[in-house]
Amino acid sequence: MAGWLGSAVDNYVYDWLFRAFEKPPGQLHSVVLGIDDATFREHGGISGLRAITTSALELLNGAGAKVVGLDVILADKSEDEARDARLERAIGALKNVVLPCDVQPSGWEDPLPRFQDKAAAIGHVHPDEVRQDGVNRTLPLEMTRGKVRRWALSLEAFRLWQGAPIIESPEDLEIGSVTIPAARSQRRALLIRYVPRGIPRITMSELQANPALIQKMKDKVVFVGVTSQTAARDRIVSPFGDLSGVEVHAHAFETMLGGQFLVPMSNLWQLGMGLIFAALVGVVFAFRAGWQAWILAAVLLAAAHALPVVLFQNGIVAPYFAPVSAAWLTVIGAASYQYFVVRRQLRQSEADKSRYQEAIHFVAHEMRSPLTAIQGSSELMSRYNMGDDKRKQMAEMINSESKRLARMIQTFLDVERLSEGEMELKDDPFEASVLVRTCVDRARPLADRKQIVIHYANPAEATLLGDRELMEYAFYNLLTNAIKYSPAQTNVWIESRIPQGELRLSVRDEGIGMDAKEVRQIFTKFYRTKKAEASGEAGTGIGLSIVDQIVHNHGGRIEVQSEPGIGSCFTMVLTRLSTDRNGPAASPSIANRQI
Ligand code: ADP
Repeated sequence: MAGWLGSAVDNYVYDWLFRAFEKPPGQLHSVVLGIDDATFREHGGISGLRAITTSALELLNGAGAKVVGLDVILADKSEDEARDARLERAIGALKNVVLPCDVQPSGWEDPLPRFQDKAAAIGHVHPDEVRQDGVNRTLPLEMTRGKVRRWALSLEAFRLWQGAPIIESPEDLEIGSVTIPAARSQRRALLIRYVPRGIPRITMSELQANPALIQKMKDKVVFVGVTSQTAARDRIVSPFGDLSGVEVHAHAFETMLGGQFLVPMSNLWQLGMGLIFAALVGVVFAFRAGWQAWILAAVLLAAAHALPVVLFQNGIVAPYFAPVSAAWLTVIGAASYQYFVVRRQLRQSEADKSRYQEAIHFVAHEMRSPLTAIQGSSELMSRYNMGDDKRKQMAEMINSESKRLARMIQTFLDVERLSEGEMELKDDPFEASVLVRTCVDRARPLADRKQIVIHYANPAEATLLGDRELMEYAFYNLLTNAIKYSPAQTNVWIESRIPQGELRLSVRDEGIGMDAKEVRQIFTKFYRTKKAEASGEAGTGIGLSIVDQIVHNHGGRIEVQSEPGIGSCFTMVLTRLSTDRNGPAASPSIANRQI
């Protein structure tokens, strides 16, 4: 389909170029002596063809034509022996007569030997069979049938005109000073450069009516043949319209004489041209974007459209469809690829932006409570006179809260860098019980405010490996959630056990609880249950997602059990434990994993 379309477009453009950029012909050296309808009428119709041919050749005797190319098949004996003898004499009387032969299934349909003997050459008058859309653009200069090779009639006429032999090479034919580009591999096909305004034509009936016209044949190559619309053996469509076969021979002769040959571009160059356009388009879109890319692509497209025209003007027939469609397809492909890449980058940067905003939101929220404590205490200290003990207590509080703030900032930065994959996790050993104690101490004021009792008994002795700050952050988060989402005067239990070499650190509450669907979502950033929202507790819905990241990065997992109205139990299951309780880490270091 594409191939058919391609050659249809190429042919159309070729014919158009022909008409648009017609070369002004030099002086023409051929004349067509046409046997037209009027001639037939005057000589008893088609059956009179041989008699008409004889008269034509007789008229040419003494006209001074350099070569006579006859396009009337003389393969059969006529019933009238006297007429054939007259024709034989007429041929013999002329100097350079080329007689025609045509293709038959059995081989060449040659002129009778008696005529052949008198002729200077025999040339084939078989039109090119390669005509996709009926338009005849080429002429095979060489044809072989039954091992007998024949040159085209027009080529033989040209050889006689030049008075030089045909010297063959695989790529071209050389006759005297003219080299005809007609490669053997291309069936020695000659691209005919049709003479736009046609070859001068004189009909037999005109010549018989006005014998003075014979002067126009002097020093010319005269092609004699049937030009009658109805009687012509072959009507041929050229880019300029319909022609008879004999006229095509004349056009082909003028093409050779003019020496301005059209040469088809080689397959390799055709392929190269498509590839070059595709590569250039690729380069444009790889290194340029936006209007710059579009302008350059437009320039390339214009070049792809213009190149066949420029080449044609220089005698090279390049395909139009292949490079133009290659350029268009690659422009469309590259542009849409670029569009999607840009869109992906945009989406990525928007995701980054919203992550950044979330982070800011989170920091602002988390920092509020220590800042409020610092602010309140320092204000109290400056406003009121208070005892040394009280003052000391407040100073200590400011100190510890500001330290917490610093830790929080550090934690936040670490989590950020962890999630960017920029940070190697620390691999320090630390005691699980100390970690729990620190968090409990810090969360106690919160619990006290709600009269919640934190139970922590019989902690398992275990040395964890990892980043203590981050683990502390994670556990503290679970603990404060348990307090946040529990009603006043309830209990929170902390348990640590080591079954099968894993440390199970759990926080159990008697709080609002969650159903199974909610549990599945709590590790998603910004997710908060309806009950949590209604509880009036401030929250961002971000904490657990960070806890999850931290625990997973430490090679652990989190298990959640919860029931609405009954309570929840969050368990951190940690596997990185040090076997050497006094020494440094014995287990392999934690790989830096993206969370
Ligand atoms: P925040 O507590 O700031 O909202 P988290 O990510 O820590 O954010 O928690 C996400 C949500 O999970 C909470 O909003 C709450 O709905 C639910 N949740 C967490 N812990 C508990 C708990 N112990 N009991 C009930 N709901 C909880």
